[in-house]
Amino acid sequence: MHVRYSYLPQQFAKIDDLLTELGQLARSGDFTLGAPVAQFEKRFAELIGTRHAIGVGSGTDALKLPLAALGIGPGDEVITAANTFIATAGAIHEVGARPVFVDCDDTFCMDVAQVQGAITDKTKAIMPVHFTGYMTEMEPLMQIARRADLPVIEDACQAILADINGQRAGTFGRAAGFSLHPLKNLNVWGDAGVIVTDDDELDRKLRLLRNHGMTNRDEIACFGYNSRLDSVHAVVGNWLVGQTEAIAQTRIAHATRYDAAFAEIPQIRLPPRPPGRRRVYHLYMIFAENRDELLATCQAAGIEAKIHYPIPLYQQVGLRSLGYRAGDFPVADRHAKEIITFPCDQHLSTAELDHVIETVRAFYSRAA
Ligand SMILES: *Cc1c(COP(=O)(O)O)cnc(C)c1O
Repeated sequence: MHVRYSYLPQQFAKIDDLLTELGQLARSGDFTLGAPVAQFEKRFAELIGTRHAIGVGSGTDALKLPLAALGIGPGDEVITAANTFIATAGAIHEVGARPVFVDCDDTFCMDVAQVQGAITDKTKAIMPVHFTGYMTEMEPLMQIARRADLPVIEDACQAILADINGQRAGTFGRAAGFSLHPLKNLNVWGDAGVIVTDDDELDRKLRLLRNHGMTNRDEIACFGYNSRLDSVHAVVGNWLVGQTEAIAQTRIAHATRYDAAFAEIPQIRLPPRPPGRRRVYHLYMIFAENRDELLATCQAAGIEAKIHYPIPLYQQVGLRSLGYRAGDFPVADRHAKEIITFPCDQHLSTAELDHVIETVRAFYSRAA
């Protein structure tokens, strides 16, 4: 049995109605910042529960533009998580600021207890990452940020509809960035992202920044970027956005099935699963003994298991200029050796999930 990682061919197998809408768009010529974008922004803001949603060119830009709007740039530091996708640190770097890492804990998010110690005179913002769809402990983090008078920009790219005691990812900080990349829980047909905020002034600035700083066709208020959400993607987004809650629920059900089975295997350790936290399993990631052999066994059994990530970000060659050294973030280092990610998306069948479970079980009973 082949348990694939990418479900895009299945997700977009039946799209006659979507193609009709795209045909209408093509004939209307409404390709930039038109009606589908405004409609998608309205529906996205309603979904998350914020006053504003601003469509932009990528999830990376959904992190970069809020930093730029807050005036963060060269000489400034932004605190973020040591284990994240490169785009988080990349967005900070793109505005000219320096990413300052804080180690994570076994939830895969930044260890909030270490944030205070990372704050310096140069710190201008904190960017927690809700990695895998598991949220950073936002209540204590917001307390630290308030005391230090620092804005928080949430990297919610993997965490659409995750929450803490009912409060959604993206509603804690001054702003939050979401990605609509094809492999994210709510996805479109290429690069796209959304920023959410309750701050009217920030909303106004972000709308300028994403469109060259243009107030209208003839007037420029400031330097900006070319980072609009394309109408084509907005049409796809509008077609899918109503499914986001069902997607989250199915992923949670699949993770629950995995958890129940893996809890019985002594060589597997689940991350903490505290109550009152809704995790949306963009990645279903657990700790495994003898990880490399398990990975090879799964791959030989047709399961596209993955490692997120085999090299901790701070140890990457491309980030050497930050001056970190091997061993600076021991938890991120340990995770790189112990973690494994299994497919957990909404298109998997029970038989496919059970093939993963049986393969893992057989691997460890053979090893015993
Ligand atoms: C995907 C992702 C991003 C960036 O999104 P793009 O849309 O690919 O630019 C940023 N942070 C995290 C944690 C991500 O997973």
